[in-house]
Amino acid sequence: MDWDKLVDEATHYLQEYIRINTVNPPGNEIEGAKFLKKIFDSESIPSEIIEPLPGRGNLLAVLKGNGKKKPLLVVNHIDVVPVERDRWSVDPFAGVIQNGYLYGRGAIDDKSMGIVEMMALIILKRERVPLKRDILFLATADEETGGNWGIRWALEHVPSLKEAEYALNEGGYVILSESGAADRYEISIGQKIVFQLRLKARGTSGHASMPHPDNPNVKLIHALEAVTKWETPYQILPMVKEYFSKMAPKQPPEVRKFF
Ligand SMILES: [Zn+2]
Repeated sequence: MDWDKLVDEATHYLQEYIRINTVNPPGNEIEGAKFLKKIFDSESIPSEIIEPLPGRGNLLAVLKGNGKKKPLLVVNHIDVVPVERDRWSVDPFAGVIQNGYLYGRGAIDDKSMGIVEMMALIILKRERVPLKRDILFLATADEETGGNWGIRWALEHVPSLKEAEYALNEGGYVILSESGAADRYEISIGQKIVFQLRLKARGTSGHASMPHPDNPNVKLIHALEAVTKWETPYQILPMVKEYFSKMAPKQPPEVRKFF
């Protein structure tokens, strides 16, 4: 295989993909899904667009194996977070390459992953690699704001996804050793989640010209200050403990004790 050529091809696809604005909200992932579908079509890999709500497109492509094993699912998301345009030195939706880096909203999270996974299917197909399992490629909508029109919807409505024995998604990594071989596979089994509070303060009303300590705004400010001063207690969860105790022997002696 001509890897340089494949890298060029993937880079070009990523630039084009970044040029499709899929900022969520509103998402408009359908345009990204159509873009991916066109490429899968040109490679004769069957795929379908799933659109649970107008504009919220998901794409499922399937590379068939002989069915001896359960499918492998590769997942990525089409939507990206908003941009603060004046903080960017380049157009975030132009797919600019500068000094060897590709800049753009979604270049890391998560359009690059979508392109890499798509290229993996394309290469397997072009090289006619015999597969023991189906490979399911799922590009989802709505990852950045909760997944209702993306992964959640897909898991409820697309039965083949639940057949998958493994799923590869953003967040975990395959760490390579110096020789380039896989040293370990890092998996996610839990995440910090959003914890939102609504604070309500009661007090005596009055006029701003006559401040007094029973003002609800004053109480709110004190309460918020207390929140910022709160120190999270250390709590080593069992899986975290296991991770570090298994990692420790692999570390150089000087850092081992920290693990
Ligand atoms: Zn992401």
